[in-house]
Amino acid sequence: GAISPFLEPGNRTNANSLAIVHLSRDNLLPVILQESKGEVDGYAEGSVINTRFGSFPHTTLINQPWGAQVRASIVDTGSRGRKKKVQEQDNIPDDSEGAGSTTTPGQATPKGLETASSGFVHILPPTPEVWTTSLPHRTQVVYTPDYSYILHRIRARPGMRIIESGSGSGSFTHASVRAVYNGYPKSESDARGKVYSFEFNEDRYQKMAEEVEAHGLKELVKVSHRDVYSNGFLVDGKSPEAECVFLDLPAPWKALPHLSRSKPADVKQDTPWVSPLRSDRTVHLCTFSPCIEQVTKTVEVMRQLGWMQIEMVEVCHKRINVMRERVGLNMPTDRGSNLSPYDVGEAVQRLREVESKSKEFHERTQGGETGDADVDMDDAPEAQKSNGTPSKGVSESKAPVSSSGAKPFMMGRLIHRTEPEIKTHTSYLVFAVMPQEWTEEQEAAAFSQWPCGQ
Ligand code: SAM
Repeated sequence: GAISPFLEPGNRTNANSLAIVHLSRDNLLPVILQESKGEVDGYAEGSVINTRFGSFPHTTLINQPWGAQVRASIVDTGSRGRKKKVQEQDNIPDDSEGAGSTTTPGQATPKGLETASSGFVHILPPTPEVWTTSLPHRTQVVYTPDYSYILHRIRARPGMRIIESGSGSGSFTHASVRAVYNGYPKSESDARGKVYSFEFNEDRYQKMAEEVEAHGLKELVKVSHRDVYSNGFLVDGKSPEAECVFLDLPAPWKALPHLSRSKPADVKQDTPWVSPLRSDRTVHLCTFSPCIEQVTKTVEVMRQLGWMQIEMVEVCHKRINVMRERVGLNMPTDRGSNLSPYDVGEAVQRLREVESKSKEFHERTQGGETGDADVDMDDAPEAQKSNGTPSKGVSESKAPVSSSGAKPFMMGRLIHRTEPEIKTHTSYLVFAVMPQEWTEEQEAAAFSQWPCGQ
């Protein structure tokens, strides 16, 4: 099968493979890049991404180095007419971010229609983080701050097997397969480093199965259509032999009896039963529940079933922006938590302008020039403003430097701004450990090796 761009993206984009088109900071578009299908009656045929930044035929995005900036096509791909259609269909306002951002496969392109187009996009390799922010939501999903912590706590690492349910929108699935990936298996039995994902909603199961295939993850993620409360976690009657478990279900306590080492009480005595857990390793489990009542029930059942080191954690992820507050520069400091490298670039540019205007002003005034100085005082630093409006006779002015000689860009208090409050409570994470199972023989063997044994 195809190699997943999530795991081994290589250096360049590939045809028939997933890429993320970065339109703007908050607008990422996942796209399976399709080759042009050739020409039909003077029309070039192929898939085109039409955005408000211009049109991007897939052919211009294939075989590009990851991270490349790609300019919009100068050929009119007829996006306007179609954009109108899309808006009519989906009621997207004309000026909305990414309006008309849609992939139109097999669309015919009239040749030679030139249009002034200066937009560009960046083409990024898919990562679980980017996928989480751009994936088609079919359910609530687990976000990066939660899943990075969860994967660390359940000790997901290359070669481990993870049981996950429900699959939902596959956000956690993509993060977990990267965590356990240790190469493509040569055979089914050789497949260590695998995710066993269970979903009972037929539609979501189908979509997950398609997505896993399209993303080159088929050998590494086994999606099963299953109600895990009733039917547990075996795959074709066999144990996944999992060391890690993640349950994002409305009632995790109903699934827990199937995750024990020994036969659950409600399974008939004569019915054969296999544990889905790896017996010769400690198993780490996490459940993800939004309500404390769910946590209480889960913990109660965990205790009954022999889970240990039970602990609940809530990840309260808060973004903290650290910046210099520059007074009087008309800086957009009130942008708060959204200050980004883009804003920093803008700010540096602005400071340069202010500095050069200020220099010009002082050269003129100190050089004895009378006449109104042509300085936009709204742009001037506070130190300069407090000197009064520049007017005739101003011959001396404080230079826009601090007493320590610091340049304007060095001035300003170093401040940090946190998001005003945690935006949303995501979920409570309950962690637990099922110790390794010891047979009588193992116990005897270990005891015989004990330095002061027998
Ligand atoms: N963790 C997923 C993600 O990151 O995209 C989201 C999971 S979503 C919140 C919960 C999923 O559990 C739903 O898709 C639901 O259909 C599924 N589910 C609920 N009860 C289930 C059951 N008894 N067996 C299997 N799946 C179940």
